[in-house]
Amino acid sequence: MDDLIKKAAADLAAARYVVALTGAGISTESGIPPFRGKGGLWERFDPMEIAHIDAFMRDPAKVWNLLVKEMKKIVDSALPNDGHKGLVKLEEMGKLKTVITQNIDGLHQAAGNTDVIEFHGNFAWQRCMDCMRKYETSKVDVSVIPPRCDCGGILRPDAVFFGEMIPTDAMWRSRQAASACDLMLVVGTSAIVQPACLMPVYAKQSGAKVVEINPERTPLTGKFSDYLIMGKAGDVMNRIVAAMDKNEG
Ligand code: NAD
Ligand code: ZN
Repeated sequence: MDDLIKKAAADLAAARYVVALTGAGISTESGIPPFRGKGGLWERFDPMEIAHIDAFMRDPAKVWNLLVKEMKKIVDSALPNDGHKGLVKLEEMGKLKTVITQNIDGLHQAAGNTDVIEFHGNFAWQRCMDCMRKYETSKVDVSVIPPRCDCGGILRPDAVFFGEMIPTDAMWRSRQAASACDLMLVVGTSAIVQPACLMPVYAKQSGAKVVEINPERTPLTGKFSDYLIMGKAGDVMNRIVAAMDKNEG
């Protein structure tokens, strides 16, 4: 792994336009469980059943109880970890331009990255399904499920459920960033959820290097990524940044 850390540090030092694609894995060290992989929510229930818009429309109370309430409890108190902070350091070095994240937890912005594309929207707000009024998630009273708007309408996360469209703006900007970069860091994503997992493919097709950080292999490994650094995002990012500092100093 040491060799790959050095290689990543050198590749980042040589790059001019770095874009990161992140997934639930980068937030596990902040205590937010991923959907897949060890300890994932999906070991306990079927994602398509729970995180699908059809499931929400059929039975909002069930989805609130099993998924949204639990996410709210965890996300309300989560803080950025070394993985997020490492990406901020890369931005401060002038390397990282944009973070495309599949996460809805807001931790990249909390850490300090300034250009974050929220591919699946965010969890900071809930919106009324009838009048579209928005409520801050941390202030929503969950003593009665599903929580309701003052107008009586049911509240839903302002995020993208499975089966829903990616916001056009996020899709467009992500494709542009993926095609413009000369190095894409793919951190903590199982690279299975479409169309987010296509961003590294666009990057590769445009001639960029694609570097994965993940404790497990993904469908990108050996096909679209140049190499995989097997490890946890926090530890690996710390070591890459330290290697870059050493090279500079
Ligand atoms: P995923 O749950 O499908 O996969 C998580 C990946 O992270 C796995 O490949 C796993 O090996 C890896 N991983 C686990 N721990 C890691 C660590 N410490 N460092 C680096 N990698 C680690 O995640 P996904 O690909 O993002 O897809 C799931 C979907 O669910 C996304 O669309 C996302 O919107 C949503 N989701 C978001 C959150 C969040 O906002 N934090 C949490 C759960 C799910
Ligand atoms: Zn309303």
